[in-house]
Amino acid sequence: MSTKVVYPGTFDPVTFGHIDLIKRASKIFEQVIIGVAYTSGKNTLFSLEERVGMLKKVTSNIKGLKIEPFEGLIVNYVRSKKARVVLRGLRMISDFEYEFQMALSNRQLDADIETIFVMPKPAYSYLSSKLIKEIALLGGDVEKFVPAAVARRLKKKFQSRKG
Ligand code: ADP
Repeated sequence: MSTKVVYPGTFDPVTFGHIDLIKRASKIFEQVIIGVAYTSGKNTLFSLEERVGMLKKVTSNIKGLKIEPFEGLIVNYVRSKKARVVLRGLRMISDFEYEFQMALSNRQLDADIETIFVMPKPAYSYLSSKLIKEIALLGGDVEKFVPAAVARRLKKKFQSRKG
């Protein structure tokens, strides 16, 4: 029986949608391991250390979490954690195709690893890290979408870029 779940993602930056999923998972699993992807291919706004740091800060009140960076294939990472379940979020139909492809390719790579999907509270179903970065870049208020600490970091990041 599985008592652990691995939630992999880029978290660039963490949003209320991610936090909603983490809280839901922590009610089902004894341990939720959040794997923050190194992402060599993608250009992230925040460094790996910043993404891990923000996640730790905004989830410090949730029990049973482990937050760490990971590199390489998700299935290898999951196995190294002695876990068998991967958690991903499904917001809208638009997420489905990519998530379906990834879940089934991971199953091809390791038939013992199962992916489960959780839907966030509807109010967060349109939230994405990408959208939030665009709003922040254009000077919009992102406090409704991300914790205050993250909103501050976003503001700082874009101010320093402009400066
Ligand atoms: P990735 O690059 O792995 O997609 P993300 O940080 O964008 O990294 O997303 C990680 C996971 O969290 C994905 O499964 C994504 O669908 C889910 N997710 C992102 N935003 C939300 C949200 N607002 N509500 C629910 N799930 C979300």
